Amino acid sequence: MKQDDGNSNFKNKLGKLPPPLFGEDDCDRPACHDMMSQMKKASQASQEKKAVDCPPNSGVLGRASWTLLHTMAAWYPDQPTAEDQQHMESFMSALARFYPCTWCARDFQANLEESPVPTSSRKELCQWMCEQHNLVNEKLGKSVFDCDLKNLDKRWRKNTQDPECKTSGLLH
Ligand SMILES: Cc1cc2nc3c(=O)[nH]c(=O)nc-3n(C[C@H](O)[C@H](O)[C@H](O)COP(=O)(O)OP(=O)(O)OC[C@H]3O[C@@H](n4cnc5c(N)ncnc54)[C@H](O)[C@@H]3O)c2cc1C
Repeated sequence: MKQDDGNSNFKNKLGKLPPPLFGEDDCDRPACHDMMSQMKKASQASQEKKAVDCPPNSGVLGRASWTLLHTMAAWYPDQPTAEDQQHMESFMSALARFYPCTWCARDFQANLEESPVPTSSRKELCQWMCEQHNLVNEKLGKSVFDCDLKNLDKRWRKNTQDPECKTSGLLH
């Protein structure tokens, strides 16, 4: 008999993977922009033989992770389907389980238990993510962020007034 490697179980639980939420022609968002100039920069950097973060330390990993998490929340649907909600819940619990900085993961798991991820709207998810990040900022003695949705959208979704993001959005 064929052995189950666990994948089929996972697929059964989550159902068929949904198609991406946007089509190829419909990507008017910064997260989709500018692949050519990024590729140019990457090739210049490799020619200059700059040191890379290899493997990443917790700061590099943290910045990259928060970038993904806040950007993903910024583009989460305003009215998510039940399936969207289930996938977001699974994603966050997998993150809490597998986040490679073990003490970060332990605290994040405890925070998730205390304040489960709200998946019923983009606004709630964005603000929850901001609060989660602020818990870590406070723990590390850093400035906290203003979790107003307009402020979060300027930093993580689209910013027409300050497209180069010269302001960080952090409160002092
Ligand atoms: C789930 C998780 C748990 C972590 N736990 C720990 C831990 O326990 N101990 C530890 O040392 N490190 C932890 N980290 C890493 C830590 O949070 C930082 O990423 C890391 O210290 C680098 O900090 P930074 O000052 O460069 O900017 P980051 O804190 O990574 O922030 C990057 C950018 O996000 C924006 N930002 C800041 N706060 C918010 C907010 N509340 N909402 C929206 N945007 C914001 C700012 O523009 C900032 O420049 C964790 C990371 C993650 C993803």
